Amino acid sequence: MSRLPVVVVGAGPVGLAAACRLADEGLPFVVLEAGDRVGAAVSRWGHVRLFSPWRYVIDDSARARLEAVGWKASADDATPTGADLVTDYLAPLAAHPALAPHIRTRTRVQSITRAGLDKLSDTGRGERPFAVWVQAADGRREVIRARAVVDASGTYDTPNPLGAGGVPAFGELAAADRLHYGIPDVGGAERDRFAGARVGVVGSGHSAFNALLALLALPVGERPRVTWFVRSRLHERLFGGGDADALSERGALGRRMRDLVASGRLIVRESFPVVAVEAASQGVRLHPEEGAPSEVLDVVVVVTGFRPDLTITSELRVALDPAVEAPVALAPLIDPNLHSCGTVPPHGFRELGHPDEGYYTVGMKSYGRAPTFLLMTGYEQVRSVVKVISGDLASASDVQLVLPHSGVCATDQIDFLEGSVASPERVCCAPVGDDAEGSPSGSAG
Ligand SMILES: Cc1cc2nc3c(=O)[nH]c(=O)nc-3n(C[C@H](O)[C@H](O)[C@H](O)COP(=O)(O)OP(=O)(O)OC[C@H]3O[C@@H](n4cnc5c(N)ncnc54)[C@H](O)[C@@H]3O)c2cc1C
Repeated sequence: MSRLPVVVVGAGPVGLAAACRLADEGLPFVVLEAGDRVGAAVSRWGHVRLFSPWRYVIDDSARARLEAVGWKASADDATPTGADLVTDYLAPLAAHPALAPHIRTRTRVQSITRAGLDKLSDTGRGERPFAVWVQAADGRREVIRARAVVDASGTYDTPNPLGAGGVPAFGELAAADRLHYGIPDVGGAERDRFAGARVGVVGSGHSAFNALLALLALPVGERPRVTWFVRSRLHERLFGGGDADALSERGALGRRMRDLVASGRLIVRESFPVVAVEAASQGVRLHPEEGAPSEVLDVVVVVTGFRPDLTITSELRVALDPAVEAPVALAPLIDPNLHSCGTVPPHGFRELGHPDEGYYTVGMKSYGRAPTFLLMTGYEQVRSVVKVISGDLASASDVQLVLPHSGVCATDQIDFLEGSVASPERVCCAPVGDDAEGSPSGSAG
């Protein structure tokens, strides 16, 4: 089995970091990416500026490899857009000779199983390799045997629905042409759709902030009439840590949003859990619970967060927390019901593995429904996972993670990012001093 490759699912930032680490260890590997090119999910939000500067979004192993072939990193303190991240970092990394021959784009993983076994069968389970069932965009199908699988497939393909209960609102699927999932490119390709329109934005995390600020930044003649729908009451902590946030762009985003609300240029509908969507003569009508007045809009931007696609592992023995849908040992460390600041202690292969040994959930997907993932976390995750696959238990266990703190560290907040609810009496993760890099805290993704 040890001669079989390690399969990495997804060529996003974390999947490619895993590939680098595998190359460092001299292990055979293949990266399978559903999109046309690496960073396919990031490209879909390419118009959005990250809140992390470059120095927090480049994996150490990748940096060393790239610099050895003459690549020059952008200024550490500049913040890239998603498109910059792909063009200036992920694409050169994927072109590196140590990685390029092992990356297959336009190749979707449909299922991961133990070869020849379904979930129920015990017989020799631990000795069986993994079988990774893939279909290429040209229709070719194949089953790839693997000694281990590193699942870095993210969550971007599976956004949460509009319905406040986590299920599609009544009529949501039928109204799909009037809904926009994710942050629209209102200053670019999607300008015509939004200019001058009645736009609703549903969600209360950084994605919602980005969408609202972009909509209201359109020039006066084109500016849409924007209504922000929030499931619960607005709360100060919703806007983040401001100046206390060690990621200054993230703090500034919350500050700009608070100013926008205060300016009155935005209509805010608090306590508006959407239960139904109905086609109106022109546009779409949103209905909240319990008889509150409905609202008619031309288009609704749905930015209610993401959830992992659990279908590809339905025949594997995976152990996920029933609420967070993250690996059971990781979930309590990131559960937004307990933590508002995204603090996460260092963690690695032990927290990311499953009863089917050799399958690891990493990257954005490892956080399940928790919205606080940061790339630095993912890079340390894959370092540890690859070390254990290579048999270096000591290094795999020596997990280290130092994240910039968010400046939001009590949990008496509602809807910090896309609708999480934490109880007021719980207080967690006070920032450790003022030193960003000295604090083991995390942040919102
Ligand atoms: C708008 C936005 C802004 C963010 N800003 C920041 C920030 O400033 N700082 C920060 O640290 N983090 C940020 N994040 C969070 C996070 O770091 C990113 O989402 C990051 O892209 C996660 O990397 P990943 O490799 O885990 O997943 P992804 O980048 O989502 O990559 C997963 C890849 O897997 C592929 N894939 C999916 N399913 C399959 C399949 N079945 N078979 C094959 N391939 C598959 C996808 O096409 C995709 O290319 C942000 C996220 C968003 C959405």
